[in-house]
Amino acid sequence: MLSPFDARRSHQETQYVGRFAPSPSGPLHLGSLVAALGSYLRARQMDGKWLLRIEDIDPPREQANADELIKETLVRHGLLWDEDVIYQHNSHERYEQALKYLRVNGHCYFCQCTRKQRLANPKGQPCACAQLALSPQGSATVLRNTVAVHEIDDLALGRVSFEEQSKDDFILRRKDGLYAYQLAVVVDDIASGVTEVVRGADILPATAYQLALYNLFAQPAPAYVHLPLVMGDNGQKLSKQNHAPPLNNELASSNLCTALETLGLRVPSHLNNAPVTDILDFAVHNWSVALTADNPHAFDNRIDA
Ligand SMILES: [Zn+2]
Repeated sequence: MLSPFDARRSHQETQYVGRFAPSPSGPLHLGSLVAALGSYLRARQMDGKWLLRIEDIDPPREQANADELIKETLVRHGLLWDEDVIYQHNSHERYEQALKYLRVNGHCYFCQCTRKQRLANPKGQPCACAQLALSPQGSATVLRNTVAVHEIDDLALGRVSFEEQSKDDFILRRKDGLYAYQLAVVVDDIASGVTEVVRGADILPATAYQLALYNLFAQPAPAYVHLPLVMGDNGQKLSKQNHAPPLNNELASSNLCTALETLGLRVPSHLNNAPVTDILDFAVHNWSVALTADNPHAFDNRIDA
């Protein structure tokens, strides 16, 4: 069976396409603004497209109306996306096709382990289910990871090594039938022609799994820029799970200045209360990934791969 995706030329020959891909599990907070802003600035600097994708593949964790709140916050911060918003719940057929391709080509097995059993399994070793021909009914679909992707050259972090993750099998579809993040994100990034992924460093370890899928689909992987995380007073990264305060849209200019500082760019004081368009214009002309990479404190809190 052939790859479900068309053969594609290398990214060097195509237009820059970036994206911001929040899950609708709650409103945006400062940490998500840093990721949105970094990816927005890259797309604008590269004269490319900036897409917005709502990653609504996990209904139990979603919050009603969060997608509307996210869009409102982006608009109020001047972060206007190109094209229609992409919703992952519309991509199920594509995920199924991709899954079928991997299954037919022998890259998957069915697993009936509980989460606890999976975690108890030694790292880098498949569970016993890998040797059994279990029924797909009530099983998770797991990728038999033989690709062994070891490293990337991240534009912000430099060379990152994934010795550990490169040997892990990982779930493509959960027991409850929901598609896993790793599969959905790669399938949608390929479908949208994304050439560069700019996101928070908390997702860095997942990159190894995603690269394995790019390989199996015979698609060129995007370039990667992993950005610093914003830490709360409790020393944990800001996240919806940690109840990070939602962004106050009334303070959009000040929020942008704070996010830019995390990215290594100090905004001159005369712009502190300027309209968001002026601050973004300044940032498009003055920010670079190198500023983030060179900011000595930016990655103090990065989660190591
Ligand atoms: Zn298992």
